[in-house]
Amino acid sequence: MVVNLNPRVVSFHYTLTNAKGEKLESSFGNEPLMFLEGSGQIIPGLEEAIKALKTGDKKTITVPAAEAYGEVEPEMVVEVPKEKLPKKDVAVGDQFHADAGDGHAQVVHVTKVTETHVTIDGNHPLAGQDLTFEVEIDSTREATQEELSHGHAHGPGGHNH
Ligand code: ZN
Repeated sequence: MVVNLNPRVVSFHYTLTNAKGEKLESSFGNEPLMFLEGSGQIIPGLEEAIKALKTGDKKTITVPAAEAYGEVEPEMVVEVPKEKLPKKDVAVGDQFHADAGDGHAQVVHVTKVTETHVTIDGNHPLAGQDLTFEVEIDSTREATQEELSHGHAHGPGGHNH
């Protein structure tokens, strides 16, 4: 494992498209996305490619599903009796936080509703998809001690305390 002794705070713009070429998201025209290297704020495959870039660089980065939001895991799809849900009024497409069992909250979305049961899917909506990012590095700087101890970037586009 390579340890980066001087992590950077990187701001970048991106346009995200899926394997079908559909545009899913773009930050161009809005605030750039900012992250602290090594903190797990962005998907691993993207961070790995950005490591080699500096301010002003543009690059098209294709990240396979496994290094993006992971493969679709069938066991993450579960059918729950309606009475076990915190609220009764659910519809296909609803998202909510569920207890992942390890104390962490996990975002799940509803994929099916019947008279008695609701099917919820804990896979990320982009799981199983190869993603392409067109990135442009807006700025980079060395992380401050405070950011390193907090494990996230501060300032516009980052954490505000
Ligand atoms: Zn902080």
